[in-house]
Amino acid sequence: STALATGLRQTLDELVRAHRPAAPVGRVPDSIPHLHSVDPTSFGIAVATVDGEVTSAGDADVPFSIQSISKVFSLSLALRHDPGQTLWQRVLREPSGTAFNSLVQLEAESGIPRNPFINAGALVVTDFLLEARGDACGEVLAFLRALSGSTAPAVDEAASAAELGSSSRNFALANFLADFGNLRRPVPEVVEHYVRHCSITMSCRDLARAGVFLADAGRGAPAVATPSAVLSAEDTRRVNSIMLTCGMYDAAGEFAYRVGLPGKSGVGGGILAVAPGRGAVCVWSPGLDAKGNSVAGSAALADLSSRIGWSIF
Ligand code: GLU
Repeated sequence: STALATGLRQTLDELVRAHRPAAPVGRVPDSIPHLHSVDPTSFGIAVATVDGEVTSAGDADVPFSIQSISKVFSLSLALRHDPGQTLWQRVLREPSGTAFNSLVQLEAESGIPRNPFINAGALVVTDFLLEARGDACGEVLAFLRALSGSTAPAVDEAASAAELGSSSRNFALANFLADFGNLRRPVPEVVEHYVRHCSITMSCRDLARAGVFLADAGRGAPAVATPSAVLSAEDTRRVNSIMLTCGMYDAAGEFAYRVGLPGKSGVGGGILAVAPGRGAVCVWSPGLDAKGNSVAGSAALADLSSRIGWSIF
């Protein structure tokens, strides 16, 4: 596996040279002011394999805003605490085909969000955690720290406060959910916990390490995995299937075609991809395409996948 790590290290260095933007590319969302102060030429990549090795290159140690990647971990945590699978009565598992913050389907489908990775669905998951655990953001943060074996993951309070001030859309979604009886906790509490867990900052290295359990049938860091796995093998398969079909906003099909791995992206420019049986990959570069996915990050993952043959297809 050391030989693999050396080869991988070389590949990742090449990916940094090939894909780090020389000048700003794409766009940065207006709704999160804090993201505009990030260096647009940042590019980091890390691979954490199921045998416990982490290989990285570029800005892989620089913390960035994980945004919607947090939804993978809030969902996994909710499933961990949902033996009766009651969450699935409140959120579906279908790709939405509309923007991640769309209101339209929520009204058409009586307050049952299409999937846990669009904002409406993630708000339901946050609400579930608040009811089941008495906390959502704190639980997600503790989960990420335990999974990554690092105390570095933290909530960027200034960024989250600023985003909360411009969260009319998320408040609208939450009010719709509440009106349809699909929230148990008060709207302001749910939105605040949701925005705060989106504002967690982590490095590619820590995020790749945190995602390994998804590549390893739910097995993970001993601190989280005792007495049993992080997640059952069955729930782990399910989370991967939702990442594949719903993880890349309205471009999941394109990502499956180009990369061939379950993935989840965030508007902070990060993407977490899972290669079942092999490992987790985290790439980060801030410039986004029109669908909200990192331009350089998607290209680098397509490149990596074709170079090392990790596509699941
Ligand atoms: N906190 C962001 C929002 O709710 C997350 C966006 C994203 O990464 O998809 O709009």
